[in-house]
Amino acid sequence: MGSITLKQVTKSFDDVNVIKPLDLDIRDGEFIVFVGPSGCGKSTLLRMIAGLEDTTSGTIEIDGKEATSVPPAKRGLAMVFQSYALYPHMSVRNNIAFPLKQAKVAPAVIKEKIEKAATMLNLTDYLDRKPGQLSGGQRQRVAIGRAIVRQPSAFLFDEPLSNLDASLRVNMRLEISQLHKSLDTTMIYVTHDQVEAMTMADRIAVFNGGIIEQVGTPLELYRKPVNRFVAGFIGSPK
Ligand code: ADP
Ligand code: MG
Repeated sequence: MGSITLKQVTKSFDDVNVIKPLDLDIRDGEFIVFVGPSGCGKSTLLRMIAGLEDTTSGTIEIDGKEATSVPPAKRGLAMVFQSYALYPHMSVRNNIAFPLKQAKVAPAVIKEKIEKAATMLNLTDYLDRKPGQLSGGQRQRVAIGRAIVRQPSAFLFDEPLSNLDASLRVNMRLEISQLHKSLDTTMIYVTHDQVEAMTMADRIAVFNGGIIEQVGTPLELYRKPVNRFVAGFIGSPK
C-alpha cells in the first residue's frame, strides 16, 4: 500500500498558475525525490498530495482510490517538515504519542510503538526531554518518529534536512535511506539539493516552473537528460 497517482493536477493562487497540468505515478514502496529550484512548486504539490492544499483541478488517487477531497487525516499519509513542527512544551515521548492519542489508540499500544520508533531512531535516552533540549538532528528524528508511529502508507518529506549542518545532513540522509529500506514504505522527498536527490532516490522528478521536465532513475537522468535544464540541474554532460 502506498501508490499515489496524479492526473492532470493543477494549482493556481489567485490567477497565478503554480502547478501546470501534471501527471505522475508514484509506485508503492519507492523513494521518489522532487527536485528543482526554489519556487518551482515542489512544496505546493507535496501539500496537495497531503491534502493541506486544495487542487484547482485534476485528481489525486491514493492506493487506487479517489482522494482529491479526502481530508488530510484520512489520507493515511504522514508529512515531515523542515521546521520539525514539534510541540515545545511536550516531552519527546508525548510529541511522538500525540497523533496516536488523538486517534484514541490504547496506552499500552502507544507505549510499545514509541519504544519501537525510539529504538529505530536512537532516541531511547531522550524520551523525557523537551525539544528545546535536543540538537537539530535529534529534533528531526522526533519529527520522523511521530510520522512512523502512525504507520502511514507514504511519508512526505519537505526539505527535512535543510536546517542541519553539512556533516549531520550526510548522516541523516543515510538514516532516512536505511529507514526506507527497513519500513519498505513509499517516501516522497522534496529537496533543492541535487546531491541529496542523486544519492537517495529510486526515481527523481525534476521540476521547473510548475511542470515536471523528466522523471527517471538517477542514472537515466544523468545519462539521458531530455533537455539542457535537466542536464544542468543534475550536472550531467549534455
Ligand atoms: P518550492 O517548494 O519549489 O520552492 P512552492 O511550492 O513553495 O515552491 O511555491 C511555488 C510558487 O507558488 C511560488 O511562486 C510561491 O510564491 C507560490 N505560492 C506558494 N504558496 C502560495 C500561497 N499560499 N499563496 C500564493 N502563492 C503561493
Ligand atoms: Mg518548498
